[in-house]
Amino acid sequence: MLKGLAAFFRGLPKMRTYRFFVFAMALALALPAFSSTVRHSRLRHRRAHYARTATYRTRHRAGVRRAALETAEATEQTNASLERVRFVPPLRGSLASLLRQNERDTAEGLVRFANDAQLDEFEAEGRLVPVPASLALRVNAELPMDRRYCQPWTAQFLADLARSHFARFRRPLQVNSAVRTVAFQRSLEEINGNAAAATGDLASPHETGAAVDIGKKGMSFQEIAWMRAWLLPLETAGKIDVEEEFYQACFHITVYRNYVHAPAATPRRHAAASTLLAAQVR
Ligand SMILES: [Zn+2]
Repeated sequence: MLKGLAAFFRGLPKMRTYRFFVFAMALALALPAFSSTVRHSRLRHRRAHYARTATYRTRHRAGVRRAALETAEATEQTNASLERVRFVPPLRGSLASLLRQNERDTAEGLVRFANDAQLDEFEAEGRLVPVPASLALRVNAELPMDRRYCQPWTAQFLADLARSHFARFRRPLQVNSAVRTVAFQRSLEEINGNAAAATGDLASPHETGAAVDIGKKGMSFQEIAWMRAWLLPLETAGKIDVEEEFYQACFHITVYRNYVHAPAATPRRHAAASTLLAAQVR
């Protein structure tokens, strides 16, 4: 009995060695299989990434618009699934856009301010509100005091945009133009061939107080790309119309009532879409 036990204990180290050998063999066989699985999935991931990047590069404006819509849909999803945006094409104006701005302003019951007297009346009654100047939003020093006014929903839009831009770039945006009168637009027409008409279907949307110009001067390429990415989902959602001007170097933006007058969940959704898409700009 004792001899048997002694022989058993002498055999133990051998058994340990044997067990260790079997374990080591199993591990040696399993590891390459495991690592090839990892390598394979990495490769697949990288291929998918290249495919996504190539697709993105070949996308034109329509594609970016679709991306904006998809982004709007994806606001509640993880932003890890979003692609990095390096280039957003300019938000160019068009005749159709200008017609739309005027049609919508008319449909929303906005009047065109004929002269300073009518403008002063609306400002005194609080029917037009001051451009919400702040650390994040300055106003061109040359803009007369009585033209530093806009529609309340335009002011809300400006405050949101300026806050979001300041959080990212730590510098203010500049408003170069807000409300104008028909009389002023007429004088502008005479000195600047590029100025919009004072009356008619293609009249300047500034005459309703719904439009503002934000200067591009001094903005980096990254800032301009960020601006486009922030504005695009709102334009796609029909809350604003943007005409990027190159002669005057500004973003001309007409803001519609539905920027604030939409069902409670919708503005948050689109503000989130704007912030998400702009956050992808590197
Ligand atoms: Zn403008």
